[in-house]
Amino acid sequence: MSRIHLLSPRLANQIAAGEVVERPASVIKEILENSLDAGANKVDVDVEQGGVKLMRIRDNGFGIEKDDLPLALSRHATSKITLLEDLEAVGSLGFRGEALASISSVSRLTLTSRQADQDNAWQVQTEGRDMEAQLEPAAHPTGTTVEVKDLFFNTPARRKFLKTEKTEFRHLDEVVKRLALSRFDVAFQLRHNGKVIHQLHQADSELEQERRVASICGSAFIDNAVKADVIAEASGLRLWGWVGLPTFSRSQADLQYFFVNGRMIRDKVVTHAVRQAYADVLYHGRHPAYVLYLELDPALVDVNVHPTKHEVRFRESRLVHDFLFRTLHRLIADMRPQDQMASPE
Ligand code: ADP
Ligand code: MG
Repeated sequence: MSRIHLLSPRLANQIAAGEVVERPASVIKEILENSLDAGANKVDVDVEQGGVKLMRIRDNGFGIEKDDLPLALSRHATSKITLLEDLEAVGSLGFRGEALASISSVSRLTLTSRQADQDNAWQVQTEGRDMEAQLEPAAHPTGTTVEVKDLFFNTPARRKFLKTEKTEFRHLDEVVKRLALSRFDVAFQLRHNGKVIHQLHQADSELEQERRVASICGSAFIDNAVKADVIAEASGLRLWGWVGLPTFSRSQADLQYFFVNGRMIRDKVVTHAVRQAYADVLYHGRHPAYVLYLELDPALVDVNVHPTKHEVRFRESRLVHDFLFRTLHRLIADMRPQDQMASPE
């Protein structure tokens, strides 16, 4: 038996990376969330070979201060929370301070950033080594670019689990779509192997928002969905978005987007309430399509359940369930019969 010893930072980060960095899509999610947390209203994503070879994310957010750049790559280093109490009402998408440390431990990462009041940008590079990143001056407008090359180059066991370029890109694209649906006020561009996949301008008006939804979910969805916006006076819960007609049901649950306070989630309470609401009007084995936004007091929902933050815990899940069920059930019942007769897909 060997003696107890501390793990090197690199190994500790690689182990932690297992939780947050599963594939290119999870890298894109973390980095885009950082851009959104930095107040960016424009994000450009360039990827090559499904993201495995290269992912480059450029934002126009507030940037990182020169001396903070190496820190941004260390574990448990975050600017987003300081006290445990901050977690109670966390408004940012990130807060664990783990993503960049994890990603940089399993890739070749370059972080370039400039704050508005700096004369030039600064850059740090790592190659999956222990953190000893060198600061170098660089040219870059206000904002941040993260470049991730050769994901899992130093962890072959993980690399083996990557699927084909096409599959990895599909996952990555899905992440971009979700984030684009979560922030209409941010312009997104996604390019794969030089080809523009999404070019989404800031969508301020309702019409522009609808156009973005159509561009992401297909115009058939928008043509077969009802726009909703309902607020429960007593609890302050608000549900808005697009509810697909029962006739637009699908053989797979592939057009279901549900956001809680701007964060895309999968949750049993939500799924159950929606399924119940559609129960009378959907055939067995068919799935409804929807893009829905639930807004509630942040103190009523815990997002710190899982590192990827896909799950949430509602403080009053009964209340949420009933509100969702009642609201959707009424909306679906009110859909005009001629809507129900249409036969798309
Ligand atoms: P977290 O997002 O949980 O704080 P990360 O590892 O994702 O942890 O990022 C570490 C820190 O680096 C963030 O708290 C933030 O201060 C800074 N950072 C990362 N990406 C950006 C960005 N695009 N713009 C500005 N700051 C960033
Ligand atoms: Mg983060």
